[in-house]
Amino acid sequence: MQLPREVIVGDGVLDRVGEICRRLGFAQSALVIAGSRTNVIAGRKVRRMLEAERMKVETFLVETATVKDVQSVEERIRVLEPEIVFGVGGGTKIDVAKCSSARSNIPFISVPTTASHDGIASPLSSIKGYEKPYSVMAQAPLAIIADTRVIIRAPWRLAVSGYADVIAKFTAVKDWELARDEKDEYYGGYASSLALMSARHVLLNSNLMRKKNQEGLRVLIEALISCGVSMSIAGSSRPCSGSEHMFSHAVETLKPNCALHGERCGVGTIMMAYLHGANWMRIRDVFRRLGAPTTARELGLDKREVVEALVLAASLRPERFTILNKLSLNREAYEHLAKVTGVV
Ligand SMILES: [Zn+2]
Repeated sequence: MQLPREVIVGDGVLDRVGEICRRLGFAQSALVIAGSRTNVIAGRKVRRMLEAERMKVETFLVETATVKDVQSVEERIRVLEPEIVFGVGGGTKIDVAKCSSARSNIPFISVPTTASHDGIASPLSSIKGYEKPYSVMAQAPLAIIADTRVIIRAPWRLAVSGYADVIAKFTAVKDWELARDEKDEYYGGYASSLALMSARHVLLNSNLMRKKNQEGLRVLIEALISCGVSMSIAGSSRPCSGSEHMFSHAVETLKPNCALHGERCGVGTIMMAYLHGANWMRIRDVFRRLGAPTTARELGLDKREVVEALVLAASLRPERFTILNKLSLNREAYEHLAKVTGVV
C-alpha cells in the first residue's frame, strides 16, 4: 500500500514547497512538469521556492498526456537524474509526471491547479496511446500540495466536475459490492468505506460548494484526496470507478474531448444509480443545483450517442463486473433508462 506522506491543503500553501521538500529529504535536484499555463499559475513559483533552497531545478512543459509525452519526460529524467518530480497542473500534467516518475523509479509530488477529478491524489494515471481507455497503475504521490488560493482561480466548472467525480463513488462502491456478492471478487471494506464517506461528505456540503469559495473548495479537495487514498488502499481504482466511469470512458472513446471527465461520470452516476435501485433523483437534484450536467444535451451528446455509449460501456472492461454486466440490457432498455432518468 503506497500512501502520500504529506498532504497540505489550504490558502497559500504553495509558499511551503521548499520546507516540505526539505522535510522529505530532497535537497539536490528536481524536475517540474507543467503546462505553459500552469507553469505561469504555479510552476514558476514552485521552481523559485526550490531554487531558494539551492536546489537544481529544471522545468519541462507538456500540453497533452500521450505515450510520447511520457517518453520525452522519461528521457529528461534519465539525463538530469532529479531526486524528485513535481506535477503542476490539472489532469494531464499530473498524469504525465506520475507515470514517467513511476517508470523511472523516482517519487513525485502532486501540485494540482484544479480540482476537476481524483487523479490529483490517486496512484493511477490516464495516458493516451496505451491500449486501454481507462487509467492504469503508476504510483501514489509522495506529497500533495493543494493551494486553494491557486485552485480557486480556475473556472468553477472544473470544481463542479470534480464534485461529480466524488459523487460517482456511490455507484462505484455499489458495483464493487455487486462483484463481491456475485463474482466473489476481492472487496476492501476500508477502501470502499473511505470512498463512500467522501461522496457522503460532499453531498452534505453541497450548500457550501454553491458559495464558490475556498472553504467549499477545501472540502472538495479533501474528498478527492480521500478517494485517491482509497484507491491506494485497494490497490486498484475499484472503490472509485464502476459502471458510471465505464459510461464516461465509452463517451470519451466514441466522442473524444466531449465534456469533462467528472461531468460524464456524473450523468453516468444518475443512470447507474437508477439501475442499482438507489436514490438517483437526489443525485440529479444536487447536480442541478450546482450546475453540473444532468442531460445528454448538456454533455454535447444526442440520444443515439448516449445509447451507443451505454452499449459500449457494458463491454469496455470485461474483467470489471458491474450492474451493466449483471443486467446485460438491450438497446431498447438503454433507451428507456436514458429517458426515465431525464438524460434524454
Ligand atoms: Zn473519475
